[in-house]
Amino acid sequence: MKFLLLRGASVLVSAGALFLAGCGADGPVVWPISGATEGDFPLSSTFGPRVRTEDDVYDFHRGIDIAVPEGTDVYAVAAGRVSEIQKNTSAGGMLVKVDHGGYYSTYVHCSEVDVDVGDSVDAGEVIALSGKASNGFAHLHFEIRKPGDNKKDCVHPLEVLPYTDKGAPTLEIGKVDMTNPLQPKVTITARVGAGELDLRRVSVATFEADAGAILEGLVPLSERAYDIDDWNRTYSSSESDVVIDDPDNEGILVRPQKYNNTMPRYEVDFTFTGLVGTVTSGLLRIRAVATDVTGNVISVESH
Ligand SMILES: [Zn+2]
Repeated sequence: MKFLLLRGASVLVSAGALFLAGCGADGPVVWPISGATEGDFPLSSTFGPRVRTEDDVYDFHRGIDIAVPEGTDVYAVAAGRVSEIQKNTSAGGMLVKVDHGGYYSTYVHCSEVDVDVGDSVDAGEVIALSGKASNGFAHLHFEIRKPGDNKKDCVHPLEVLPYTDKGAPTLEIGKVDMTNPLQPKVTITARVGAGELDLRRVSVATFEADAGAILEGLVPLSERAYDIDDWNRTYSSSESDVVIDDPDNEGILVRPQKYNNTMPRYEVDFTFTGLVGTVTSGLLRIRAVATDVTGNVISVESH
């Protein structure tokens, strides 16, 4: 079976999120390191499934990591009020949280905090100095929580921070296991560039159709989706008995590539099981769709 890209990316242009509409916290937003209002900041780890280097198991990383030397200025990303400070976190270093009236920003592994709980801060105000995690890795771990202040409320920080989006993720339909043609297993690889680690959703649908037939308008036999926000909300490990680290939750096996900021791209393999197939393997058609944080969509079909 051969797979081709039938439809190109339909790109929705985003100029970055300088202003947050409708969450009670309108105003300028800057990066927590550098204080810049735009740009591609090198992330050493992104929001979503991540391989834990120590044991090769993946966990769900609820923020972004920015690798910077200890003692680098940490900026409040938007105007707000300091709502929490923790002096000694188990993750290493100090934690500061700012309430922006609609969402929260959290800065972890700090070596010094220069504000007190209750202080008002402006966008771009230095509130702390960066430090290192308990494993010795010097970086800032940064989270956005909205609407609430629980782990399950964490969203991809690139939803809020201004960044230059270079287009949709790339997507490839890989192995299709037809051992049982009525229940095919489909592996899909999604990739995003290092400057924009913004993958948000990957879905797959099966169809019964002749090769070359247009799938648009056909009712799929089955449809499955992996959405980082839904998964974080559903499986946030501190608030649920079901751990997101289960490698094949909901029949979706997630295999993130190990990543560091010297790599040109970030890659995640998804294997979808429990799909509905066809009696005749020649009639099985597959569509995969990936979406990034800014809403760029790419769709790939087998033919
Ligand atoms: Zn982190």
